[in-house]
Parts: sequence; C-alpha cells; structure tokens
Amino acid sequence: MDERQRGPRVVVLLLTSRCDARCVMCRVWTRPAQDIDLDVASRIASSCSMASSIRYLTLSGGEPTLHPQLHSITELLLAPSTGLQEIVLSTNALDVERTVGAAAHVLRCIGGRRIRFVAYVSLDAVGATHDEIRGRTGAFDCVERTISELKRLFAVWPLAELRINCVITKLNADGIGELLHYSDHVGVPVNISVASRTDSWIGSAACKAEWELGTREATALRHFLRRAVAVSRLMRGRGAEPDYVSELLRVLEGQVRTLPCPFREHMGCFIEPWGDVYVCGMSREARLGSLSCMSLENIWKDACTWDRVLAGLSEHCRSCLSNCYVQVGSP
Ligand code: SF4
Ligand code: SF4
Repeated sequence: MDERQRGPRVVVLLLTSRCDARCVMCRVWTRPAQDIDLDVASRIASSCSMASSIRYLTLSGGEPTLHPQLHSITELLLAPSTGLQEIVLSTNALDVERTVGAAAHVLRCIGGRRIRFVAYVSLDAVGATHDEIRGRTGAFDCVERTISELKRLFAVWPLAELRINCVITKLNADGIGELLHYSDHVGVPVNISVASRTDSWIGSAACKAEWELGTREATALRHFLRRAVAVSRLMRGRGAEPDYVSELLRVLEGQVRTLPCPFREHMGCFIEPWGDVYVCGMSREARLGSLSCMSLENIWKDACTWDRVLAGLSEHCRSCLSNCYVQVGSP
C-alpha cells in the first residue's frame, strides 16, 4: 500500500474554540464556544489511523485545557495509539494550575510507553509586550509561573519536553533577540513562526491591521534572521530549526517556499471541534470532509478531493510562512 494511503501521520486536533486570551493575531475567541464532543473523539480514537498511522498528535485549540472533558478525551485518544511517537499540548499557559494539571494527566496516560510529550507554551515577548499581544494583563507573569511549574513536573519524566512557542507579529518583531536571551535564562528552547493571514480557524485575515508586519518590522526581522542564520549554532541550541529560519528569510524576501510540509505531502491534517477535516489551517479552501458523515480513513483515501484541495492551496503554499510542524520527528 502507498505509504500516503495508510492514513495521517500528523494530526492537529483543535479541541475547542474556548480561549481565555484575546490575541491580536487570532479571532478564535470571538467564535461561539464549541468543544469537540466525545463522539467525534471516539470516532478518531477507534479509527484504524489511531492504531496504525498517527505518529504525531497535537492537542490545540483555542485553549485546549479549557475543554471540559480534556482528561476523558486524552484517555480515549491515547489508549489505542500503538504507533504514537509524540503528543503535543499547545497552550497559552495563562492558568498555572489548569495547564500543569492537563500536562500531568497526559503524562499519566502515557505511563511507561515510549511516547515523547512536548508542551508548547505561548510566549511572544518578555514582559508587557506579551500581555499586549495576548490581550491579558499579567499574561507574562502567568506564563513565567507555568514554565517554572512545568519544569518541576517534567524533571522526573525523561521523555517530557518544554518549549516556548513564539508567534512573530509587528508588535514583537524587533524583540526576538530579547526573548532568546530570556529562553537561555530559563533554559527552555524557543520555536518561532510568523503570523499568517488565514480565513480559516483562527480568522487572522479579519484583523490583519492589528498584527501584520509593516515594512519597518519586516526589515528588522530580516536583519535579525540573517544574523541568526549566520550563527546558526546558537539558533539550533534554542530549538528554532535553522532550515525553517533560512526558509523564512527567503519567503520574506519574496522567493517561493521550498521547505517541505507534512500537510502538503498528504501526511497530516487539522480537525476542527465539529469534526471538519482540513489539510491545514491556512485556508477555508483546505477542507477535505467531515467526520460527521465519513470515517477518517475514507476522507484520507478520497484522492479526487485531495487533488482538488491541494491544487486550490498551491498559491498559499508558495508564500506560506508557517513552520508546518517542521520540527515533527526532530530529536
Ligand atoms: S492565538 Fe491561541 S491563545 Fe491566542 S486567542 Fe487564539 S487560540 Fe487563544
Ligand atoms: S499552505 Fe502552508 S501549511 Fe498549508 S499545505 Fe501549504 S505549506 Fe503546508
């Protein structure tokens, strides 16, 4: 069987539209509260994909820890996942207790299995700039406390890893160096990505005036990235993938993206809370089908839909600034 026909290797599960942040580059928080229900989660869990093909599973949102049944869903998904290599929790870390409780529960579900657990904590800048981007006074202080507690929790789990996830917008483009110093200080690597316009899940296109890089910010970012690439050993140590950083520079300079993307290559998908399956989160045109009327396997095998959707996405792919989970599978 064609490797691509086996089913998705990478699944990003958007568990809920609830969020306690009000980020400038996202409008998920304006949506009505919608949580993935146990029925949809059960259908994913009982699919052949969960038992055979899925290697990398990301729990995201919204803020995934706000899902009222997060613990049950984590148990459901992890029980049959014989091939899973990595599970990611992507969190804004604004509630210390809730975030650490969710991480501890994922670790309990993993138990003695050799599954890597990565908690990505959103942190875009040091101090008040982070509060401004996330639309919450005191956000930076909350994230600092969460990082400290997660480090304590992960200290006894050899396969647990903590990373900072930084989204670059016009508000923090000239502060990435300061964030890297902070990451050294707390001993947590940073992954960077640049905010992109999308009419899909996060609806960032609707608020682009609030976050999109202008000429000055884009120039400052390019200068910073050129220096970063020149000293790529520094970047590597911090978790930012040199390939992605180099590629980002090329795309910001107007060249066509060449970096591979697991979604583009028919290896991954995003699933929204009501069960709609997308190739990625970059466009509404990326929709493949719905779990309400089809199994994940059948959606995956529908070559005609894949061809149509990928053809529709090709313009987006040429200038896509997303890191597309290029860290998937990195050591
Ligand atoms: S970017 Fe994430 S943390 Fe911010 S509002 Fe959107 S879902 Fe919430
Ligand atoms: S638009 Fe970006 S994330 Fe989506 S398939 Fe293309 S390269 Fe991947």
